[in-house]
Amino acid sequence: MIKYRLICKDCESIFDSWFSSSEEYERLKKLFFINCHTCNSLSVEKTLMSPSVFTSKNNSKTDSQILKYKKTKKVILKYQEFIKNNFDYVGENFAYEARSVHYKSKKATKGIYGSATKKDLKELKEEGIEAEIIPWIKDNMN
Ligand SMILES: [Zn+2]
Repeated sequence: MIKYRLICKDCESIFDSWFSSSEEYERLKKLFFINCHTCNSLSVEKTLMSPSVFTSKNNSKTDSQILKYKKTKKVILKYQEFIKNNFDYVGENFAYEARSVHYKSKKATKGIYGSATKKDLKELKEEGIEAEIIPWIKDNMN
C-alpha cells in the first residue's frame, strides 16, 4: 500500500488516499477514478512529500516553494558574505574568543564568528555575553 497526498487543482483541498501501488494510482487516474473529496473535480494531482520534489517542473505550487527556498538561501548567503567580510572567523574557539573580547584580554576591532555549542551559548549568556545564532549554509551546498 502506498499513501499519496492529493491536491485538488480546483478547490485546493488536500486529502490523503491509499493505493495498492503507484501503478494503480496511475491507472485509476487515467480512468478518471480519482476525484476531489470536496468538490468532485477530476483535476486531482498527487503532491510529493519528499524534498526531491524540488526538481519537479509541472507543479506551480512546488515551483513557488523552490523560489521561496532560493530566495531565503540568497538572503542567508548575502548575510554570510557580510559576516565573512566584517567579522573574524575563530572557528571552534568561538566561546573562548568571545570571552577574551568580552573581558578585554584581547582587543577586537571586528566582531567574531565561529561555531559554538548550545551549552557554550548558554554559558556565555549567563556571563552577560550576547551571541546571535544565525542560519549557516555551507558553501558547497546547493
Ligand atoms: Zn476540489
